[in-house]
Amino acid sequence: MHVFVLKGDFELLDSYTPLLFELGAGGLEEKPGEVWAYFPERVELPLPGSWRELPDDDWLEVWKRDLHPVTAGPFVVLAPWHEWSGPETKIVLEPGMAFGTGHHETTRMALEALAAERPAGKRVLDVGAGSGILTIAAAMLGATALGVDIDQQAIAAARENARRNGVEPEFRAGSVEVAAPPQDLILANLYAELHAELAPAYARLLAPGGRAWITGVLADRENVADAAMRAAGFVPLGRRREGEWVLLGYRR
Ligand code: SAM
Repeated sequence: MHVFVLKGDFELLDSYTPLLFELGAGGLEEKPGEVWAYFPERVELPLPGSWRELPDDDWLEVWKRDLHPVTAGPFVVLAPWHEWSGPETKIVLEPGMAFGTGHHETTRMALEALAAERPAGKRVLDVGAGSGILTIAAAMLGATALGVDIDQQAIAAARENARRNGVEPEFRAGSVEVAAPPQDLILANLYAELHAELAPAYARLLAPGGRAWITGVLADRENVADAAMRAAGFVPLGRRREGEWVLLGYRR
């Protein structure tokens, strides 16, 4: 993972967001006075403004210090050094290995949508598994879960995280092409333009009546994802917004 820090101008960053994702950013995070962009591979950022790459040790240390347990639906997401005595189902993840610690609004909303779907006994596909958090949660809820990610390092981290949590969902390197129909539920935390591209594949992979919850979508890009999902034959089920992020639900 490589982390780039942009100082200052958030309006400027808004206009960069699609480009950063096109360049392969796995996530963006606003911190006081700066924005952190996470990339699985090192990239040359062809952007004006004041960018610097953080040395691995620096961002890992800051990340660890800032990290706190997060609850989402029936789950609490913990780092290995956290203690928790509440009734929630614990998901323990080694942070810093891949995107998806439960701290991002989109991950939390997806976890809650997953739990509300009562996925026990269903086939669940997680597109863009990252740390494996959603796949692991689905397996804990009794689903037959498959997580796919184009980042080989994320797949290795996801397998390790699943082992740590005592579940055995399947993970495959790749994207929608490495999954097979019929799936009952698709979870995908990507970004609007990629959902638009993948919408026909989601439709092909889902059984009739199957459902998809997609997130990673910035509110001002929502129409891009939504129009493509409708064009692929999906019927809207619901929508949630937290901050600038939305989660969109559909039935095939
Ligand atoms: N599912 C986790 C969560 O909800 O926190 C991680 C989501 S993270 C925002 C997006 C992940 O999608 C990254 O790990 C990235 O490598 C992966 N990804 C990006 N493009 C992809 C594609 N076309 N197919 C599958 N995975 C992709």
